[in-house]
Amino acid sequence: MGSVRKAGRYMFQRVREEADEKLAEIGLQFNYRLRKTKSESWSTRNAKMVYLNPEDRKSSLMADESELHVLLHECGHIFVAKHKSIKNDPIVLGLFGDMRKPYRRDLSRKEDNPDFISHYAQVHPEDNFAEVFGIYAKNGGNLKAIRTLLRKKRKSRKVLRQFLWLHRFLNGKRWTAYGKNPRF
Ligand SMILES: [Zn+2]
Repeated sequence: MGSVRKAGRYMFQRVREEADEKLAEIGLQFNYRLRKTKSESWSTRNAKMVYLNPEDRKSSLMADESELHVLLHECGHIFVAKHKSIKNDPIVLGLFGDMRKPYRRDLSRKEDNPDFISHYAQVHPEDNFAEVFGIYAKNGGNLKAIRTLLRKKRKSRKVLRQFLWLHRFLNGKRWTAYGKNPRF
């Protein structure tokens, strides 16, 4: 039993390191504690704890089937918790939906939608954001790679704009509600 637990912890250490590296590539560093859970992966609202279920990597509903993506998705929730004001940004509202609405996930959606990066992105606007964040981080903010991926997945320009919004936000170029839209 002991060795199994140790192996589990070792794997966790690796995915944590990988996620930290990816976040560093996009200029972010989050301090959270990572724990394993047997229920669904989730993070606390205060952004201090992430509970990860390694089995979630097999979920075909998510934008990428990997443990790294599941962790980066949770980091997307941490990002929102640290930048609460983005929820009120009209551009964000238009692109991702209203993240202020109570966190009750709509798990009834059955079809893939070209306006969402993944099936799971449809369950709640904050998960929409977290899914985009996860893919953005996994690709180290490489827009060329992301464009190729979106083409392959046959995603709409709306999804591309979601990535561009995040890219610009992280690079300190914020969109204003009434300003001229940047090129897409
Ligand atoms: Zn989520």
